[in-house]
Amino acid sequence: MHVDYLIIGQGIAGTVLCEHLIKAGKSVIVIDESTLSNSSKVAGGLYNPITGRKMVKTWNCDALFNYLTPFYRALEVKLGERFLIEKPIYRPFMSTEELNEWMGKSAESIYQPYIGEIKDKPAYANHVKDQFGGIILKQCGYVDTATMVSAYRDYLKINHLYKSEAFDYAKLVLTDRGVEYEGIHAKKVIFCDGKFSQSNPFFDWLPLRPVKGELLFVKTKTKIEVIYNRGVFVIPLSNRICKVGATYDHENVNENITSKAENELRRRLKQLAVFDFEVIDQKAGVRPATKDRKPFVGIHPKHSQVVVFNGLGAKGVSLAPFYANQLTNHLEFGDHLDSEVNIERFFSLF
Ligand SMILES: Cc1cc2nc3c(=O)[nH]c(=O)nc-3n(C[C@H](O)[C@H](O)[C@H](O)COP(=O)(O)OP(=O)(O)OC[C@H]3O[C@@H](n4cnc5c(N)ncnc54)[C@H](O)[C@@H]3O)c2cc1C
Repeated sequence: MHVDYLIIGQGIAGTVLCEHLIKAGKSVIVIDESTLSNSSKVAGGLYNPITGRKMVKTWNCDALFNYLTPFYRALEVKLGERFLIEKPIYRPFMSTEELNEWMGKSAESIYQPYIGEIKDKPAYANHVKDQFGGIILKQCGYVDTATMVSAYRDYLKINHLYKSEAFDYAKLVLTDRGVEYEGIHAKKVIFCDGKFSQSNPFFDWLPLRPVKGELLFVKTKTKIEVIYNRGVFVIPLSNRICKVGATYDHENVNENITSKAENELRRRLKQLAVFDFEVIDQKAGVRPATKDRKPFVGIHPKHSQVVVFNGLGAKGVSLAPFYANQLTNHLEFGDHLDSEVNIERFFSLF
């Protein structure tokens, strides 16, 4: 079998990149053993333009956020599934100072596209502690990443573009024309293998810094309409079930759920929420994060037929579409790849 691209891994990265290559008219085959990683299945899936303790615009916000909604909407139409849920995020203020600070910032043109409203009085007091008011963000929501990845896998399977198996790095043969793997001849191989990049002989020199995350599913009696985010995120799903997350653990990088994380999330939820809840499930995954918090995108320093699209960290949903597009245009037309994501920045480590 001859294809343009052999893609290894079909989490958020592999899915979104594969779709860009197919849209560019390229032929692909994807090899994925989905049981190896939970990350894209358990993700909160949030895309949030203003983040962090200091609440600043997320890196490259305007470019990423202008691109992501039309991309996911078009993919929903193609797959006949709904997974992009646009929803405001409400973040209560902790003090009058914070309220005043945001009153000022809301006049700044860089923030305006993302601020729905500043509430100077409690607005959701029957759900969360917001005695100082809060900020309602717009252009945000979440992607049900498990549904997206699974629907895309079905699409690939129906079109005979998917092989469900563990890829054996040792069996990849580099040739003059590209690569060969068990009868598959491709012009290039692209690794979207998430945390397994650490044991990938082509890219184990990249400074990946995997971070474990856990989240809870809680049942409430309260009907929640917006996403709450302060200390924890609370994403309302269906049937009064909410996803609550997430923890960050750099030490125990595995996919086992722990009572420590459960207790921490319960405590943080109680600090934010005034509604009663019952924990009904818990999940864990490992984010393929990087030391400089920027993705790994680009072509191997020695083998031009070997490519990486990885390191999406805690922001796979917002980073993947824009940079999958950039990588596709880079590979196909030689277009520029942002130096902040291009793996050339780490060539000294190779
Ligand atoms: C608890 C938690 C909460 C999160 N919340 C958010 C959030 O709110 N918003 C957000 O944007 N991001 C969030 N993330 C981060 C997001 O999940 C990641 O950015 C994303 O999943 C990374 O996707 P990926 O495709 O790079 O990796 P993965 O999802 O790990 O996908 C890699 C795929 O490759 C396969 N694979 C690897 N090696 C091989 C091999 N040798 N052979 C065959 N298959 C292989 C794996 O099985 C897997 O299917 C969260 C993550 C966690 C853990």
